[in-house]
Amino acid sequence: MTPRVVLIAHDTCKFDLTAWATYNRGTLSRCQLFATGTTGQRVFEATDLGIERLLSGPAGGDAQVGAMLAEGRLDYVIFFWDPLTTQPHDVDVKALLRLAVLYNVPTACNRATADYLISSPLFFHAETRRRHPSGPDLASAS
Ligand code: PGA
Repeated sequence: MTPRVVLIAHDTCKFDLTAWATYNRGTLSRCQLFATGTTGQRVFEATDLGIERLLSGPAGGDAQVGAMLAEGRLDYVIFFWDPLTTQPHDVDVKALLRLAVLYNVPTACNRATADYLISSPLFFHAETRRRHPSGPDLASAS
């Protein structure tokens, strides 16, 4: 399968994510890539990889990623968020991370975890992992 991967980095983390993407360019070239606006631009400039760019995070890009997670359209989230800076779109960030947990989507929030994900023998077998939420409310909604 072709893993569907979204790349997101807050401003102070963009250099780190771009460096990670450059290092892992070979593997990422075998993925379908998505990114929030500015992150996608930076990674594209550094790697020349094809990336579907969403809106910028503060303008709704993180909310778009949340919707994609709920719709089962993403297999991995690589999200280097800044733990030291308050974000205007913090509620969207929180919603995105909540949905990633709910749907059992592997999510890397720092470079060490991203290294583990992308080097895992399971990386190209993401389809076996998707979990549908259960419970009275969620079951009736699906
Ligand atoms: P950006 O958005 O890639 O457009 O900077 C990322 C974010 O702030 O969540």
